Amino acid sequence: MLQFEESVTHGGGLAAAGLQPITGTAPQGDALPRAPAAGMAALVPPSAPARLRRVNVADKRIINGQTDVNQLVPFKYKWAWEKYLSACANHWMPQEIQMSRDIALWKDPNGLTEDERRLIKRNLGFFVTADSLAANNIVLGTYRHITAPECRQYLLRQAFEEAIHTHAYQYIVESLGLDEGEVFNAYHEIASIRDKDEFLIPFIDTLTDPRFRTGTPESDQKLLQSLIVFACVMEGLFFYVGFVQILALGRQNKMTGAAEQYQYILRDESMHCNFGIDLINQIKMENPHLWTPGFREEIRGIMRKAVDLEYRYAEDTMPRGVLGLNAPMFKEYLRYIANRRCQQIGLDTMYEGAINPFPWMSEMTDLKKERNFFETRVIEYQTGGALSWD
Ligand code: FE
Repeated sequence: MLQFEESVTHGGGLAAAGLQPITGTAPQGDALPRAPAAGMAALVPPSAPARLRRVNVADKRIINGQTDVNQLVPFKYKWAWEKYLSACANHWMPQEIQMSRDIALWKDPNGLTEDERRLIKRNLGFFVTADSLAANNIVLGTYRHITAPECRQYLLRQAFEEAIHTHAYQYIVESLGLDEGEVFNAYHEIASIRDKDEFLIPFIDTLTDPRFRTGTPESDQKLLQSLIVFACVMEGLFFYVGFVQILALGRQNKMTGAAEQYQYILRDESMHCNFGIDLINQIKMENPHLWTPGFREEIRGIMRKAVDLEYRYAEDTMPRGVLGLNAPMFKEYLRYIANRRCQQIGLDTMYEGAINPFPWMSEMTDLKKERNFFETRVIEYQTGGALSWD
């Protein structure tokens, strides 16, 4: 029997679940059965009127859409599809990268200073669980509230990339023989890491709460706020002290395997951040009533708090200068990034005159896979070799 407890008045309900929405004009007998799973069955009986079967492109919406989320094309949000294609073209796997030099350096008692070792362990301590939080946020939260199939397609790819990143950190921890319990518990036990995660969790909880539905100005603002926190704070700010640190090690020819993996992660993450910003701006365009002065002020407050938390993490990971880096340099850097994120989503900048003390980071973000990928990869994909028709 039909179950329509996910009210049709909330766009995130039926449409988001992958079911053909029922409009008020559909006669009772046309009511469409709940599919066993989105995309696994013909959702609309062939006898249903064409207006129920075919998506009018102009009717697609990023949130609260009332069109069938299984009809990827015709495209309305071509930018999302293009990001999906670029992300697939950037595919990589952690085990393709040689870790032997890193292992030798880590085991050499004179290979690294105590400050460098602390930095690496604290750095991994944040990242080993961060991408897992990110993946859960997408799969259990964001995905079901987004009703544009082009954007869902990108989110599926993004979720897999978050898994690859968690794999990469695990691979580094395992290669170096670090205490897994210690590293994976850092987000409970190290205050500067715990504070960042505790700041994020309420925003993730909003989207993953099974009772949360979009469809009112208040709930749509909550969704938008969580999307901004996720793209502009988590992926767009909280990752950057850590990226600079490991890439700075690599620039000094230390931990080059880990640094190469972080380069690929940085490239992926900058696309996640850019996709999130495009998503936010599209939602703003489609729902201008959400972008109130009060809401904007709230976002600026969130950004300011995030800069403080990330700066505290910088101080904790680098109590003294290390690798030519020191915490105060990061104060400037974080202000520079926060300004950039604000500009990208249409907010006034917050820190006048902040400049980028690490211009080399831009080159890293623009990494072309071809540059060194084939020199360092150690295995081939096994798509052909793993198949047998015997
Ligand atoms: Fe990400």
